[in-house]
Amino acid sequence: MTTQDPGARPGEALLRALPKVLLHDHLDGGLRPQTVLELADAAGHELPAGDADSLAAWFRDAADSGSLVRYIETFEHTIAVMQTADNLARVAREAVLDLAADGVVYAEQRWAPEQHLAGGLSLGAAVEAVQAGIDDGIAAAAAEGHIIRVGQIVGAMRQADRWHEVAELAVTYRDRGVVGFDIAGPEDGFLPSRHLGIWRFLAEHDVPVTIHAGEAAGLDSIGQAVHLGQADRLGHGARIIDDIAFTTDGDQAAELGRLAHWVRDHQIPLELCPVSNLQTGVAGSIAAHPITRLKELDFAVTLNTDNRLMSRTSMTHEMKLLVDEAGWTLDDLADVTVTAAWGAFIHHDERRDLVDQVILPGFQKVEGALV
Ligand SMILES: [Zn+2]
Repeated sequence: MTTQDPGARPGEALLRALPKVLLHDHLDGGLRPQTVLELADAAGHELPAGDADSLAAWFRDAADSGSLVRYIETFEHTIAVMQTADNLARVAREAVLDLAADGVVYAEQRWAPEQHLAGGLSLGAAVEAVQAGIDDGIAAAAAEGHIIRVGQIVGAMRQADRWHEVAELAVTYRDRGVVGFDIAGPEDGFLPSRHLGIWRFLAEHDVPVTIHAGEAAGLDSIGQAVHLGQADRLGHGARIIDDIAFTTDGDQAAELGRLAHWVRDHQIPLELCPVSNLQTGVAGSIAAHPITRLKELDFAVTLNTDNRLMSRTSMTHEMKLLVDEAGWTLDDLADVTVTAAWGAFIHHDERRDLVDQVILPGFQKVEGALV
């Protein structure tokens, strides 16, 4: 980590102005509390709280329980209000606007279309509704002076058996807004080996893959994701730290196991989500979160929000915590942002433009303001 004058620590306003790349953010985990209230009211869905502030607190507290299973239960309420094309489009549009206001210039929104069919939508119609909302949000953000690009990652729920259908959906919509495929939900016991054929199918159709791994389960899950799933990125991947032996307290004394070497040798981006990980018990504090150690060891570390509603977080908030509690500098934040851009599910020339024309000049501008 670079040294930094503690007096020059960037505050929230400067952090918000930084260009950001967000690769791991769930569409159904980022709703505005007020929107949940309004849509639930219209749909006749009962919520555990009656106003936006107490509803926001309920989501955070339920997610704070320390169990991934309970964390996932909070999604019953958000998913319940995302069952029509109009509602999906509204949620997607607002997500884009909220990200743009947070300084995000490139984002991938992931969600599981199979969970949004109760109102009669087909998988394809659901993807098209979300895309309409994304397109609207991008246009509305541009009108406010924020240029943002957003792609969809369609995911299959690990515990259900629609992996093949969703993989086919990703192929069908590959050039119409979908940039990649994911599996989400309970990690333990539902590993990529459940449906071996889909990974080859996706690879043969040139669909990028990210797999939730190394959050609730450990090295076996990460190994399957990279070897069987041929994952281009790992959703979280934090527990790769379990394959590293720290022989002393010193930063340099780390001995990597074979899998940790594999992940680092291939520079497979780790979509780390510090605040969410505190809630699910992956780490005990921001200072102790593996993100800093993994970054120092040259893993391809990226910074993400996971679920902005449940974790009451944003990219600016995640950055602020790392600066305040883990000693991160602007250089560190630039590193993870550039790494995320190179790991984005867009093409090489587009990644280069994102880095050279948006991220580096944006960081230089903020650095100039800090001096
Ligand atoms: Zn996630």
